[in-house]
Amino acid sequence: MTRRTLGLTEALYEYVLAHGVREPELLVRLRAETDRLGKPARMQISPEQGQLMAFLVELIGARRGLEIGTFTGYSALACALALPPHGELVVCEINDSWLEIAGRYWAEAGVASRITVRRGPALATLDAMTIEEGEAGRFDFAFIDANKDDYDGYYERCLQLVRPGGLILLDNMLWRGAVADPADQDAATVALRALNEKLYNDPRISLALVPIGDGLTLARRR
Ligand code: CA
Repeated sequence: MTRRTLGLTEALYEYVLAHGVREPELLVRLRAETDRLGKPARMQISPEQGQLMAFLVELIGARRGLEIGTFTGYSALACALALPPHGELVVCEINDSWLEIAGRYWAEAGVASRITVRRGPALATLDAMTIEEGEAGRFDFAFIDANKDDYDGYYERCLQLVRPGGLILLDNMLWRGAVADPADQDAATVALRALNEKLYNDPRISLALVPIGDGLTLARRR
């Protein structure tokens, strides 16, 4: 027995995948195709994290979601499958070749009609949605998984875009452990460390930093 989170051995991780993760076949294939991209494949979330996110989407009865940083579409597909038929997921991404892969899988899954793609730099997109398009408070959840230097900016905008009681998910908040290594002063590490500190002290949200994948922060707007 333990009163702290277990470190997962390879065997225990395999057990979790085999007994706790019902990964749809299409997501398995998307992961395999993404693997063939080589190094960028590391940006894909893990299957157990995708399942947790889909679970949360179901749990809060979400109808509208927002994603910042879509890559090849794994997390968007996992979440879109958990939305009701007339749900909507707005995704922000700048890379067309990644979107091409994503689009094929969304179509095959029959959820393409639930996903709205916003190409271009996400900060500008989010500002347009908040200010010009009247979308403030109209999202049930947001998932932030793009460039780390702008995470704080994404967070502040998502806090306006999600409704009270809505959920903001932030990926990579443990950054392979680098946030706990004071010697690591890489710009992304510094940005994530500062944001972890800010979120910890932020009275606008309820907070849980879940050590799944590379660290997933759950922030519920109060
Ligand atoms: Ca990520």
